[in-house]
Amino acid sequence: MTALPATPAPATSLPAAYLPGPVNPPARLLMGPGPIDADPRVLRALSTPLIGQYDPVMTGYMNDTMALYRQVWATTNEATFLVDGTSRAGIEAALVSLVRPGQRVLVPVFGRFGHLLTEIAHRAQAEVHTVEAPWGQVVTPAAVEEAVVRVRPHLLAVVQGDTSTTMCQPLEDLGEICARHGVLFYTDATASLGGNPFEADAWGLDAATAGLQKCLAGPSGSAPITLSPRAVEVVRARSRVEAGIREEGDADADDPIRSNYFDLGMILDYWGPRRLNHHTEATSMLYAARECARILLEEGRQAVIDRHALHGRAMLAGVRGLGLQVFGDVAHKMHNVVAVEIPAGLDGDAGRAAMLADFGIEIGTSFGPLHGRVWRIGTMGYNARQDTVLLTLAALEQVLRRGGVRVPPGGGVDAAYAVYDEVRAP
Ligand SMILES: *Cc1c(COP(=O)(O)O)cnc(C)c1O
Repeated sequence: MTALPATPAPATSLPAAYLPGPVNPPARLLMGPGPIDADPRVLRALSTPLIGQYDPVMTGYMNDTMALYRQVWATTNEATFLVDGTSRAGIEAALVSLVRPGQRVLVPVFGRFGHLLTEIAHRAQAEVHTVEAPWGQVVTPAAVEEAVVRVRPHLLAVVQGDTSTTMCQPLEDLGEICARHGVLFYTDATASLGGNPFEADAWGLDAATAGLQKCLAGPSGSAPITLSPRAVEVVRARSRVEAGIREEGDADADDPIRSNYFDLGMILDYWGPRRLNHHTEATSMLYAARECARILLEEGRQAVIDRHALHGRAMLAGVRGLGLQVFGDVAHKMHNVVAVEIPAGLDGDAGRAAMLADFGIEIGTSFGPLHGRVWRIGTMGYNARQDTVLLTLAALEQVLRRGGVRVPPGGGVDAAYAVYDEVRAP
């Protein structure tokens, strides 16, 4: 293993001359829970020239992006656009714009990203309530409804796919519960969108946000968002008019959205026909997001989900074929990631380090109660492919063997092949 170059010590007086070389990252196969290798088409889109944000070509790209993501989200929502920033920029924009201080937010928590929703809702000064499921399980619709009746929240905020536990929370029954009780319904679909079913309109969602670095085959740095007409009304009632720059509107000056950057009303006016100035568009990321959606829709929404289901199933069979145990309720596992229990006696971090150093393959560690207990292996976006699954399983077998774990020779690759052969059989 080559040693990493030392980082220069912090300067105490004048900084020493230090000129590192250009970035030249090694070849890696990113098989963790995200980020994954971006599709080369997305990398090419990222390197195309910049143009001004009011150039008609650029506003055309913005309109394309809105139309493309309406299809990705399965929605007719006019308000479908991008928040510039990583996935949590989308989460934060949704919560800070939809929730007034003191309003109640109910969060089903079944992993780390549920805790993130509670934390962001707290910072938006919401009164936060939770309904919890043990890690490795999802929350039942009955438990959500019981909590909705008890808490009477303004907003239900739920993660769809929580990569920390690999669980995919069923959402299809929650919209009806929210509608019956007059609750806004928001989901963070960052890890799941593209690789698992998602129906914004059919499931009654008022708001949903995502990122590119999971099943959408892009880098992190752009957060697709969609808002129902009802969510837009809630946002519009509070959106701040920026003095001297934006026209007078009906903004609630007493209780404005407590962020300029994440004021969804202002961002909507920027994306919408008024094209009012807000931030400088992250042009390169918009190119990337647009290309991600084009790639997905070209293959077909259902075909992409089916591909994630197939390669997820092959990886699941493969790790079991290596004699490894899988964490969590597999019936509710996301298609695109599996949590594998680290065999007793093996140092999980050393195993991951060997995968990276010896094979150039990155797999994921875990957080909180699962740290040191499981590895997380992803098959998502551009990396949801047969070659990546077989390579990862072949490499993992060798790492386990060298770590002293007894594994059935070829057991991982054989089991994955069996899944593929079944699909190919006439
Ligand atoms: C990966 C992931 C995120 C990532 O957020 P970033 O701001 O892009 O790091 C958010 N939510 C969920 C559910 C995730 O799995």
